[in-house]
Amino acid sequence: MNRVLVTGGAGFLGSHLCDRLIADGADLLCVDNFFTGSKRNIAHLLNQPYFELMRHDVTFPLYAEVDQIFNLACPASPVHYQFDPVQTTKTSVHGAINMLGLAKRVKARILQSSTSEVYGDPEVHPQTEAYWGKVNPIGIRSCYDEGKRCAETLFFDYHRQHQVDIKVVRIFNTYGPRMHPNDGRVVSNFIVQALLGQDITIYGDGQQTRSFCYVDDLVEAMMRMMASRDGFTGPVNIGNPVEMTMLELAENVLRLTGSSAKLIFKPLPQDDPKQRQPDIALAKKELSWEPKISLADGLKETIAYFRTVVQG
Ligand code: NAD
Ligand code: UDP
Repeated sequence: MNRVLVTGGAGFLGSHLCDRLIADGADLLCVDNFFTGSKRNIAHLLNQPYFELMRHDVTFPLYAEVDQIFNLACPASPVHYQFDPVQTTKTSVHGAINMLGLAKRVKARILQSSTSEVYGDPEVHPQTEAYWGKVNPIGIRSCYDEGKRCAETLFFDYHRQHQVDIKVVRIFNTYGPRMHPNDGRVVSNFIVQALLGQDITIYGDGQQTRSFCYVDDLVEAMMRMMASRDGFTGPVNIGNPVEMTMLELAENVLRLTGSSAKLIFKPLPQDDPKQRQPDIALAKKELSWEPKISLADGLKETIAYFRTVVQG
C-alpha cells in the first residue's frame, strides 16, 4: 500500500484530500495541531483501518516512514494567519524544513501547497508561474506570503542540493464545504451573512477580483500533481480562471441563497491584492487538468453545508 502523510489533514482542504486518499486505498497518516482544523472534519474517517490521526505541530521534527507527503499545514485565511504571525512564518518555514528533512531521510516524494499569495498584488495579469510577484516583505500579510515564498525556496534548494523529489502547487482561492465559518474569507463570510440575514460586508469598493476554484477540482489537481512525471517539479498554478469582482460574488451568493441581506462597505484591508486570476496553461499541459465545477454548482454545495452549520 502507498503510505501517505498529509500535514494539515484536519483542515478544510486537507480533510477533502484525506477523503480522496482513503477512497483510493492509501495507508494514511493525518497530522494536525488543530489550530484551525477540527476533528469534526475527519471524524468520519476515524474508524477506517488505514486512517491514522496524530496531533503534532510541524514546527517540531516528525519521525514516520512514508512514501509520499502532502504538506498542507498552515493557517490560510488572513484572520487566522494574522492571529499569531510569528507562528505562521514558523509553520511555513520550520514546517517545510522538517517535512523536507523527513522526505530526504525516507526518500519520499513531497508536495508543497503553496499559494497565489506568492504573487502578492500582481502587476502581471493573469498570473503565470514565470512571474516573480510583488510582495510587501514587512506588511500584515507578509507572515503568510513570505513564509510561503521561503518554503518554496527551501523546496527547490532541497531538490537541487539533496535531490529530494519535490512537487510545488500554487493554489488560488478555493472554497467548499468544511471551510471554517469564522475564518473571514470572502466566500464563507458572504454565505454565512446571507443565511443569517446579516449585512454582506464588501471591503473597499468591491471591484477587486478573485477567481474561485471548487475544492473537488483542487483535490483532483493535487492528486495528479503527486502522480506527475519524474522531473516535473512545478511550481504549477491550480485554480479556476473564471474571474469576478467581490460585488459579483455577493450577487451570486444572494441569488443562490434567496437572501435579501443588504450590502455594506467596509475599509479595504492593507495590502489587499486588486486582482487575481490563474493562468493554468501549465496545469493543462502537464496534468491534463482543468476545473470542471461551475461557480453556481460549487456555491450550491457550499451553501447547503453552511445551512447545516448555522442552523446547528
Ligand atoms: P485550513 O486552515 O483549513 O487548514 C490548515 C490546517 O493546518 C489546519 O487543520 C490547521 O490546524 C493545520 N495547522 C496549522 N498550523 C499547523 C502546525 N504548525 N502544525 C500542524 N498543523 C498545523 O486551511 P486550508 O484552506 O485547508 O489550507 C490548506 C493549505 O492550502 C495551506 O497550506 C494553505 O496555505 C494552502 N492554500 C489554501 C488556499 C485556499 O483558498 N483554501 C489557497 C492557497 C493556499
Ligand atoms: N472580502 C470582502 N468581504 C469580506 C471578506 C473578504 O470584501 O467579508 C474581500 C477581501 O478584501 C479580498 C477578497 O474579498 O479582496 C478575498 O478575500 P479572502 O480573505 O477570501 O482571500 P484573499 O484576500 O486571501 O484572496
